[in-house]
Amino acid sequence: MSAPPSAEAIPVLDHGFVRLDGSLADDLSVVNAARVSFARRKEAMDDSDAGLVRFLMRERHGTPFEHNAFRFHVRCPIFVAREWFRHRIGSYNEFSMRYAEAKDDFYVPAPEDVRTQVGKPGAYTFERVPDELAAETRAALEQSYRSAFATYQGLVDKGIAREIARAVLPVGIYTEFFWTVNARALMNFLSLRNAETAQREIRMFAAAVEELFSTQMPITHAAFLQNGRSGP
Ligand SMILES: Cc1cc2nc3c(=O)[nH]c(=O)nc-3n(C[C@H](O)[C@H](O)[C@H](O)COP(=O)(O)OP(=O)(O)OC[C@H]3O[C@@H](n4cnc5c(N)ncnc54)[C@H](O)[C@@H]3O)c2cc1C
Repeated sequence: MSAPPSAEAIPVLDHGFVRLDGSLADDLSVVNAARVSFARRKEAMDDSDAGLVRFLMRERHGTPFEHNAFRFHVRCPIFVAREWFRHRIGSYNEFSMRYAEAKDDFYVPAPEDVRTQVGKPGAYTFERVPDELAAETRAALEQSYRSAFATYQGLVDKGIAREIARAVLPVGIYTEFFWTVNARALMNFLSLRNAETAQREIRMFAAAVEELFSTQMPITHAAFLQNGRSGP
């Protein structure tokens, strides 16, 4: 797997990133898609267009938000990717541990991110643990990762196929994928994953995605916020 290939990559966690590999996305595409109903088209946004975007968002006229595309390049732990891939409206291509050898980058939470789970299903809170327990947890993860990777490497060195040897690797290992998605599905992702109820790790990736989204479609993003972070 590669290192972040460009300066625009937003670093996330200890070895991850999100970068916008390409896009065909602007606020004008939303209003022009809506106004094609009246055979009208504009070359630039004005105040009435911003109002139209807010109206479409509020009234859940979703399809005008689909005429655009964002292609993200993401590097994250497998357990984050697994949550991410549940978002079906979009296209994915992922690094293959059948065809390429795994790299020993594993997620070790920062001390302040080592947490305990308190409460009951549907109403959990996650609280920071004492420094000593955080250090012990980090050391246990590192030791376990080292051991798993040594076993993996040993099997590959003996000629075992990577597709078998990988079975020993934990979900804290990093993977990489491309994700192409339109703004409507993206806002659904953001409302669920850049949210207090989401796991902290995917939330940090979702926050990076949101930053890139807001740069490309600022008026749509503002309307999304105004609508209580609820997509159309
Ligand atoms: C906090 C949190 C906890 C979660 N916990 C669990 C869990 O314990 N177990 C678990 O299995 N999952 C869990 N999930 C995953 C969740 O159930 C969804 O699979 C995931 O969030 C993707 O959402 P989505 O279906 O809206 O997105 P997408 O798949 O991108 O779909 C976008 C929208 O398209 C429409 N759509 C897509 N496919 C269909 C379809 N087949 N039929 C009808 N409409 C469709 C829906 O309107 C959907 O909202 C959790 C998610 C979150 C955010």
